[in-house]
Amino acid sequence: MPQQHSIYEQGLERQAANFAPLSPLNFLRRSAFVHPERTAVVHGQARYSYAEFYARVRRLASALAKRGIGRGKTVAVMAPNVPALLEAHYGVPLAGGILNAINTRLDPASIAFILNHGQADILIADKELSPAVKPALAQLGRAITVIDIDDPLAEAGALLGEKDYEALLEEGDPAFEAAEPGNEWQSICLLYTSGTTGNPKGVLYSHRGAALNAMGNCMTFGLTGASRYLWTLPMFHCSGWTFTWAVTSAAATHVCLRKVEAGPIFRLLEEERVTHLCGAPIVINMLATADDSIKRPLAGPVRVMTGGAAPPSAIIKAMEEQGFSVLHAYGLTEVYGPATACDRQEAWDDYDLPRRAAMMARQGVRYTTLDGATVKDAGTMAETPWDGETIGEIMLRGNTVMKGYLKNPQATEEAFAGGWFHTGDLAVRHPDGYIEVKDRSKDIIVSGGENISSLEVEEALYRHPGVLEAAVVARPDERWGETPCAFVTLRPGAEVGAAEIIDHCRGTIARYKVPKTVVFGALPKTSTGKIQKFALRQQAKDL
Ligand code: ADP
Repeated sequence: MPQQHSIYEQGLERQAANFAPLSPLNFLRRSAFVHPERTAVVHGQARYSYAEFYARVRRLASALAKRGIGRGKTVAVMAPNVPALLEAHYGVPLAGGILNAINTRLDPASIAFILNHGQADILIADKELSPAVKPALAQLGRAITVIDIDDPLAEAGALLGEKDYEALLEEGDPAFEAAEPGNEWQSICLLYTSGTTGNPKGVLYSHRGAALNAMGNCMTFGLTGASRYLWTLPMFHCSGWTFTWAVTSAAATHVCLRKVEAGPIFRLLEEERVTHLCGAPIVINMLATADDSIKRPLAGPVRVMTGGAAPPSAIIKAMEEQGFSVLHAYGLTEVYGPATACDRQEAWDDYDLPRRAAMMARQGVRYTTLDGATVKDAGTMAETPWDGETIGEIMLRGNTVMKGYLKNPQATEEAFAGGWFHTGDLAVRHPDGYIEVKDRSKDIIVSGGENISSLEVEEALYRHPGVLEAAVVARPDERWGETPCAFVTLRPGAEVGAAEIIDHCRGTIARYKVPKTVVFGALPKTSTGKIQKFALRQQAKDL
């Protein structure tokens, strides 16, 4: 049937002419053209319109190009959530380069490793981080151009570089334009995973994946031109879960924030009329449990995306009670941050809050912009049954999965075995198709041959009114192999002993899952607010 064939194929010859590489750079070009006067960036008292934001980005790209940054060259930035780091998400790729945003809490040896492994030619660093950056530079074993971010809002720090970031911008042309990206699969960012075992791995993002995940964020989180996004999530973490680009694509307003503290956050929520923010469950918990003297009534609806670790339903419930609208997302550095979200069903509106919060605590379903999210048996690659019980590994596939690990073909190959990206997260699939994480494969506790999900035990602990934070890890045990060991931080003023915690758990979960040991104290956390379970495992071992 030749006619059908031609309907199907007509216009294919023009495909090449209409093809344009997908890139977040086009988001900024459009927003600056359509909304030049709208506020793009807020930082303390400073405000940049979209026209100014774009001009600063072009100056940065031009100044970098003059210093030899072009295709395939890396520019590293180490900074809290300040305008310079946001601008680098556009200025570096506009020059053709790759942005390597570095975790601000890393030790000098790790920073030096990343700068060398990622082959950075220029490092732009906030002066407050000089205590770590200075020894890192000494360990590099090569010269590198250093530019300081001399932010007036920084509390302290030394200037280490040859000039200040604002002076660098002065070198650049505000009308600079480059034909970038030449190819949408070109790298835009290099981001290192925390690497709790061995050296950190460098994850490469493409322009295409970055643009798509950013658009997925807008669809999932409902960003519009009227949105005001507070930067509570580090931009160095998965490019701020790609909100660095999503907020700009919506021509919304970025509200910068140097430090994640409840006081300034509640102040900005009110004064800057914030509508959206993201954060790890620990950050959300900090807001939910902040002292009444710090809390302020919300100026309007505020949407909160949480992920990066499993949010106990008690935290979701507390936030919803205070008027925040919570969305739970799941992902990893390798998939541009959020890849699934717990898309809300109308039926849940009729549930009481605890039941709704329990539904929302599941990791959910794939982003619109991701091709596939499933749970498989890693051995056979067969999908696990949707019974809410059978544990398998979450596997992801699509345009928003990384290009690979830099200079690490073996790890890349292993991660993509069988054509799907292996997350290392263990989960079940419920009858409605929603995915629920049970544990990271390395966090699961095996006691007397039974698997115990540390998240399930934590969920039970968080339901005790005296518990502020909790984490459960395996403690080696002669008889059982491993037993659950709980680390608990109590709310101020709460007087609760181990026996009461254990009793409380007995009332909610199966006996073999109840912690045998309870340790009270503060919990060690990563820069992104995740509890460092490997440190707790070591502590449990040494008990
Ligand atoms: P790292 O924590 O090693 O730096 P990432 O920041 O990429 O790496 O974290 C990804 C991991 O965080 C996932 O593999 C998963 O274990 C955990 N994670 C992320 N989001 C969620 C979530 N919503 N629920 C449970 N675990 C999550």
